[in-house]
Amino acid sequence: MWVTRDIAFYNSVNVNFFVSNILSEVVYHSNLHSLYHVQRVLYVDIDIHHGDGVEEAFYTTDRVMTVSFHKFGDYFPGTGDIRDIGYGKGKYYSLNVPLDDGIDDESYQSLFKPIMGKVMEIFRPGAVVLQCGADSLSGDRLGCFNLSIKGHAECVRYMRSFNVPLLLLGGGGYTIRNVARCWCYETSVALGIELDDKMPQHEYYEYFGPDYTLHVAPSNMENKNSRHLLDEIRAKLLDNLSRLQHAPSVPFQERPPDAELHERDEDQDGRDERWDPDSDREVDDDSKPRRRVKSECVEAEHKDAESYHKHLDCGRDFHTPFKEIACSKVSGVDSMAVDEPCIKEEQDNLKELSDHRSR
Ligand SMILES: [Zn+2]
Repeated sequence: MWVTRDIAFYNSVNVNFFVSNILSEVVYHSNLHSLYHVQRVLYVDIDIHHGDGVEEAFYTTDRVMTVSFHKFGDYFPGTGDIRDIGYGKGKYYSLNVPLDDGIDDESYQSLFKPIMGKVMEIFRPGAVVLQCGADSLSGDRLGCFNLSIKGHAECVRYMRSFNVPLLLLGGGGYTIRNVARCWCYETSVALGIELDDKMPQHEYYEYFGPDYTLHVAPSNMENKNSRHLLDEIRAKLLDNLSRLQHAPSVPFQERPPDAELHERDEDQDGRDERWDPDSDREVDDDSKPRRRVKSECVEAEHKDAESYHKHLDCGRDFHTPFKEIACSKVSGVDSMAVDEPCIKEEQDNLKELSDHRSR
């Protein structure tokens, strides 16, 4: 099912409502009820506009990771700085890939594959939502990238290769005949079917002249994304991802001796020094001390990691209900008792972020 609407053109309040509606509608009309039951969902956006609304909706949670590849700089909606990385519990769970005019297939994939490969390895989502906005194609009326349909579809092919449940959404696209070409081809990629380039006769055949082919050649526009710039963006984002080593799917270290833990506890009163008090953006602070965790937390998370590994190791059962995972955390307690404080915490985080931004 293709759901087509450019999320970029809705303000953040409407977007939250809109995204919920999309997912509800898709789940209602399909067999994707398991989407509500996965532990972690990855949202990837290859529309030329920044996926601002979806990012904002999940900015403070670590259950949904958002990754947006977009034109950045003097371009609607103006958000999506590489330094915007998430907030609170969601820190490092938002990734932004700012690009410039004329990016071609090779440059795009030199970022997309290493970054998304790392995201899949570290975050290990139970389901992936890929927003396939076609305004990042060459020749789009509003866009300024230079991707071919095959280059665009390579993102679908790559995300599909992980064999994780994948929901494809439409998005923007303003040269309509190319939008139809793109999503037709991407449907074939999703189904693993090869299509002839020569277009068969159909009701709208005349719109696809003079070549009447599925694919169109990209233009000779200048690629303003230098190799050096691409290398810098890739290095920065891979570095951000390396800070997520404590995601539940990654084994935790052995518990240190009690004496060491006691010493560490003395530091507990200090706030997390990685936070810039005036910004939700990342600060360059590798030299600063990081917050330490109490032994109880380490132990509890260790148990979580073990139980989650069990789920993953059992043939990567992506349909394991969230309720079941939650119950494994607190034996004998109903899952809602676990969920409610989490929801409350996320609501508090959102409020804190909102207050923070309005200051
Ligand atoms: Zn768009």
